Amino acid sequence: MTTTAGQRLVYDLDREEWHALLASWGEPAFRARQIWEWLYHHLETDFEAMHNVPRALRARLAAHFDPNGLRPLAEWRSSDGQTRKWLFELADGERVESVLMEYTARRTACISVQVGCAFACAFCATGRMGLIRNLTAGEIVAQVLHLERHVRARQAPPSPRGITNVVFMGMGEPLSNYHHTLRAVRVLNDADGFRLGARRMTLSTVGLVPAIYRLAHEPVQVNLAVSLHAPTDDLRTRLVPINATYPLRELMEAVRYYLNHTGRRVTFEYAMIADVNDSPELAATLADLLAGLLVHVNLIPLNPVPGSPWQGSGRERVAAFADVLRRRGIPTTVRVRRGIDIAAGCGQLYAEVERRGRRLPFPGHAAVRGPEMGSGAERR
Ligand code: SAH
Repeated sequence: MTTTAGQRLVYDLDREEWHALLASWGEPAFRARQIWEWLYHHLETDFEAMHNVPRALRARLAAHFDPNGLRPLAEWRSSDGQTRKWLFELADGERVESVLMEYTARRTACISVQVGCAFACAFCATGRMGLIRNLTAGEIVAQVLHLERHVRARQAPPSPRGITNVVFMGMGEPLSNYHHTLRAVRVLNDADGFRLGARRMTLSTVGLVPAIYRLAHEPVQVNLAVSLHAPTDDLRTRLVPINATYPLRELMEAVRYYLNHTGRRVTFEYAMIADVNDSPELAATLADLLAGLLVHVNLIPLNPVPGSPWQGSGRERVAAFADVLRRRGIPTTVRVRRGIDIAAGCGQLYAEVERRGRRLPFPGHAAVRGPEMGSGAERR
């Protein structure tokens, strides 16, 4: 299926818009559900295959909408086979990456919300790209559907539910593309859409304070993760520059507000960087900061990003840090590193691309798909 720049993606419309459009075309209300059934349950990308939809309407839909929106250029599989990464081309030629992590009982899609990112965290590959553009809701949803097709195709017997969790932790900042991200969440959550429970979706933010207040009032009960990475302003501003705009005091105030309004536990992500933010003293400071709150800390040994002098903390250092937090009663887990050999880990997504003369010296990975896809990453 080819994509055409300028055409709207069929997944861009939420339920209200979809109903309004069909009504304006003089179609009965039940058509909306019928078509969504094809799109989100059968994962159909060809309007012609929607055989219970009248032929004239199929043609009209095909004339209006791009039913796909993503062209897979390359696909990588980690050496343990449990993590896969895709490089997608969007209709305008921009590129994003998505990651699928398979566990025993869960299959988690990690998806992108922007091409690049504006926030330039010191240890993040995506942050070096700068922000190229926001993804539309449809481009966000389409990533999940592509991964879902992959999972379903490999399940024997075929299962109606492939992906069990979606984390907005790929490229970009979900809360700075608020409108499209929340619309994607609603479509994925909709009982006529992808039907994924809101509690199975997690938005991860660099700490955009006004958007956290706004999110507290959203009807959809999505989870929130905050990328903290340091418990003091000096250190956090070095690692996460937006901290200069929204310092810890304001961030924690917003989190408290969010907790009071939603009652939903907030996760704090903390990338452990050897000799930078991983001392037991900082763990104690972090415990002070989070004391008494309904939170959970997720420690992530820093993933390597080429050109960065920083290293992930060693196992013992991470364990000692976790120990301090746990003894202070703060639930803490250490995130299992996944897909590092294919640069699919947190902060490693870069959508390997030569862009406006700039290119990072990233190592090449051998794509697992055949030559027609493997060569895609090198095209252009
Ligand atoms: N913009 C969102 C989503 C980004 S990626 C955010 O900032 O939360 C998801 C997580 O990966 C964030 O916590 C981010 O800080 C973290 N991350 C970025 N680079 C990393 C790296 N090299 N190693 C480990 N985690 C990293």
